[in-house]
Amino acid sequence: MTNMPAGTVPKLNIVPFVSVDSMMKLVLAIGVERFLAELATYIEEDFRRWESFDKKPRIGAHTHDGVIELMPTSNGRLYGFKYVNGHPKNTREGRQTVTAFGVLADLGNGYPMLLTEMTILTALRTAATSAMVARYLAPKGTRTMAVIGNGAQSEFQALAFRTLLGIDKIRLYDIDPAASAKCAGNLAKFGLDITVCQSAQEAVETAGIITTVTADKQSATILTDNMVGAGVHINAVGGDCPGKTELHRDILLRSDIFVEFSPQTRIEGEVQQLAPDHKVTELWQVIAGNAPGRTGAEQITLFDSVGFAIEDFSSLRYVRDRLPATGFFEELDLLADPDEPRDLFGMLLRASAKD
Ligand code: NAD
Repeated sequence: MTNMPAGTVPKLNIVPFVSVDSMMKLVLAIGVERFLAELATYIEEDFRRWESFDKKPRIGAHTHDGVIELMPTSNGRLYGFKYVNGHPKNTREGRQTVTAFGVLADLGNGYPMLLTEMTILTALRTAATSAMVARYLAPKGTRTMAVIGNGAQSEFQALAFRTLLGIDKIRLYDIDPAASAKCAGNLAKFGLDITVCQSAQEAVETAGIITTVTADKQSATILTDNMVGAGVHINAVGGDCPGKTELHRDILLRSDIFVEFSPQTRIEGEVQQLAPDHKVTELWQVIAGNAPGRTGAEQITLFDSVGFAIEDFSSLRYVRDRLPATGFFEELDLLADPDEPRDLFGMLLRASAKD
């Protein structure tokens, strides 16, 4: 299939489909950093109108090795969902840990308006959300970030923090040195000062922001309490499932904890290690000005990121808005479209007669 000419408005009853190839063309045409910055504004906009969304914890099907999740939400006019998996052992077989696709639909008539790959889009939206959130929580003026876990998400995280916060020094660590070498190589042309470290302890030295983005289906301890100094912002991305965490519990007890949607994060996030009534602040409250973010230089702030449906909804909106001008979509014959809407069977018969 080929992309549509730029300026093509998607037809009624034809669903625009953004393949992986089209998504890559779209991201490259816009530019990764501009894409991240614009996407962050869409996400922030939807966090500001949080209360207008229909929200529920995502629906997961768990096995010992991973999870498949459905993430739906709507704002009364549009409906979006994402299908996403998380299988840390997949990389050993040449598959991604996380893959995804999603749909945006018109809640008024129920028709899908967009079907898109979301593996690349998830990496972009996760990074854009992390960096947008860090603008409210990270210590002012920090230019150094540690990135622990240098897999598929890592470069996106580094570039989002550079674009939105001006981070220009990145300290990498991964238990697999090949992953760090890959990450450093991919980031080489972006003008970042990159240091590959031999341990997580070494990576966090001098870092004002610590991003943990490892994949392991267990309660891991990527950071211990002694590794986290006063004033640091922790962007904890990898712990996002029941029984899958990255931080030692003592760090949580010293931190002010910020979450997306608390009913989901209490099931899936780092806070699953704490009492169910432990204080957390939902980020939309900070963004709306109803709750404080960072209040002092000594405060340890923790974004307990698990990924919420509204971020995917914002991403679907962003992609939909970019399609007519760019043409990076194909026309998908997904919806039956008989000439007379009630004559579905007649359409079938006429198709047979054409053979
Ligand atoms: P990936 O498998 O591509 O990379 C994970 C990396 O972590 C690997 O390079 C691995 O070697 C490394 N690692 C594992 N254990 C480690 C340890 N103890 N110390 C240092 N490094 C370690 O996975 P990915 O696609 O980059 O995703 C990373 C994590 O982020 C996954 O757990 C995924 O579920 C999660 N994730 C969260 C969100 C969110 O919104 N919060 C979104 C996407 C992905």
